[in-house]
Amino acid sequence: MNDNVAIDGLPPLRQVIEKHELATKKSLGQNFLLDLNLTGRIARTAGDLTELTVIEVGPGPGGLTRALLMHGAKQVIAIERDSRCLPVLAEISDHYEGRLKVIEGDALEVDMASLAEGPTAIVANLPYNVGTQLLVNWLSGPDWPPFYKSLTLMFQREVAQRIVAQAGDNHFGRLGVLAGWRCHAEIAFDVSPQAFWPPPKVTSSVVHLTPRETPIECDGTALETITRHAFGQRRKMLRQSLKPLGGQELLDRVGIEGTRRAETLDVAEFCALANAYKTA
Ligand code: SAM
Repeated sequence: MNDNVAIDGLPPLRQVIEKHELATKKSLGQNFLLDLNLTGRIARTAGDLTELTVIEVGPGPGGLTRALLMHGAKQVIAIERDSRCLPVLAEISDHYEGRLKVIEGDALEVDMASLAEGPTAIVANLPYNVGTQLLVNWLSGPDWPPFYKSLTLMFQREVAQRIVAQAGDNHFGRLGVLAGWRCHAEIAFDVSPQAFWPPPKVTSSVVHLTPRETPIECDGTALETITRHAFGQRRKMLRQSLKPLGGQELLDRVGIEGTRRAETLDVAEFCALANAYKTA
């Protein structure tokens, strides 16, 4: 194969990064994926993209973006904070004849629901410093089902484990309750540090989340309050950690023993507590 062209007809990512002098910035969580086979696997994890608008956070030099386009995404809308990446992304947009739109900005500030044109999926190798906050934003809020059909996201493995954790797991906490309440979540596969440039210190995982059509009826703000207190002192019994919210009396209203600890409650029990707290 010609060394100057990758399977999609564009230059290999290493060359792109050298040509545009994209020295990675730690402050922007820049660990780039250079292997189009791997980015292809992430794109396939998101399922059939042909009828979908894909929103990608942090395209960087475009490894995952190219895979999404190669795998037939109807269009990709990519939000990138680092203006140095824009010329590279413009080349990709030209190659794919306008199927890629790029928005320069901070993904935390962008109203993604308003970008969704038709059925939408979110796929991203997230910057680790804002990844969890973005996920919490996508899972929270009063409107459900959300504007996206699925989320396919790369996180540090430890965060991924917290997202998919169930009651009784060591990693079970606020993130697991929120994700389990609103979505089915699973780890699709792990990615070793060597797959990135520069290699991060830890293993990463791709998580696939699909929204539940009818999550348990529950007020998100009350759920957030309950889990913040319950897991804020996770070694303590619930009658102690929930004391500021009603303690044993609140627990009695939903028939949960005060001697239990937060990580033993399942999502349905947390929702029951949130509903009792809300109506107190
Ligand atoms: N998608 C590329 C890949 O897989 O090789 C890059 C992923 S890198 C882990 C994260 C990307 O997110 C970087 O390009 C970084 O500049 C960008 N980024 C960091 N913070 C951001 C923010 N708040 N909003 C949008 N993009 C951000």
